[in-house]
Amino acid sequence: MYTDLRSDTVTKPSKEMKAFMLDAPVGDDVFQEDPTVNELEQYAADYFGMEAALYCSSGTQTNQIAINVHCRPGDEVICSKDAHIYFYEGGGIAKNSGSSVLLLPGDRGRITAKDVASGIKDPNNPHYPLTTLVSLEDTMNRGGGAIYDFEEIKAIRNVCKSYNLPLHLDGARVFNALIENNIPPKEYATQFDSISICLSKGLGAPVGSVLIGTKDFIHRARRARKVMGGGMRQAGIIAAGGLYALKNNITRLKEDHQNAQKLGTALLNIDWVEEVLPVQTNIVVAKLKTHVSVEELIAKCAKKDIHFMAFGEQTIRMVTHLDVNDDHIEYTIDILKNL
Ligand SMILES: *Cc1c(COP(=O)(O)O)cnc(C)c1O
Repeated sequence: MYTDLRSDTVTKPSKEMKAFMLDAPVGDDVFQEDPTVNELEQYAADYFGMEAALYCSSGTQTNQIAINVHCRPGDEVICSKDAHIYFYEGGGIAKNSGSSVLLLPGDRGRITAKDVASGIKDPNNPHYPLTTLVSLEDTMNRGGGAIYDFEEIKAIRNVCKSYNLPLHLDGARVFNALIENNIPPKEYATQFDSISICLSKGLGAPVGSVLIGTKDFIHRARRARKVMGGGMRQAGIIAAGGLYALKNNITRLKEDHQNAQKLGTALLNIDWVEEVLPVQTNIVVAKLKTHVSVEELIAKCAKKDIHFMAFGEQTIRMVTHLDVNDDHIEYTIDILKNL
């Protein structure tokens, strides 16, 4: 049974989503005349109780635009050493915004208010770069889908406020965090100045991310998007997939978490597995015993139509999503147990 656990980005649009996309009214979005893009942006902003939003081609683009609006060349961004904005965006902070980074350790990628406070540099000392942004990632991809404690986010927000620093959220998988911990999106969003969400991960849309913030912030983000070559024309046809996803595919994320739990528990009981990171959402990260070759394991499983990825030294990552059901999970567990 073909089971693709490489990433939640592999999801394909359902029949219903495709029908919705085909019917979507479109217009020129650079003129802000695409009704579907406008509706998606309004829907996303309202969902988080924020003023405005901007549809972009990818989560890398929304993050990079946010950083570009918040920071000037020579400024410094504080984030986790494992943050997607630093680790997986091709050096974009330096390249696009000429900004520096301060990388904090953290528990499975989750940085603390205490470390943020001690990382902020004295703006009156001319030796230092100016700290101008703090960025969090929730859930934390390289932390195995770890969710931030909401109280810690509030504490980080307080630190930011006392230094007058904006707080950005890389919320590529924020819906997984909100659904799992039952946090109202509007309450959560009050802690951030800008939020990036991905529509093309667990939500199952084919393309796109949305950047959310104040009217003024989004106005400036629209310019940054254009400069980065991200202005799209009749984008409603793809934005419709995102709108459909936001309206239909959020609550079902719980199923992905349950499936990930099952996988994690099964892996824990396999003798060639050294350790499984606590499974909180839809990501399972397992460390293998030293005698096992990650490449061989991946190749062996691929022959049985089960696909997942290496994730650093002796480590594999499996991600559940809306194209993985109970049968896929049972099949995978059965194969893994009997390798
Ligand atoms: C996937 C992801 C993004 C955005 O990735 P794109 O492929 O550019 O859409 C950003 N942050 C995190 C944590 C992600 O997992």
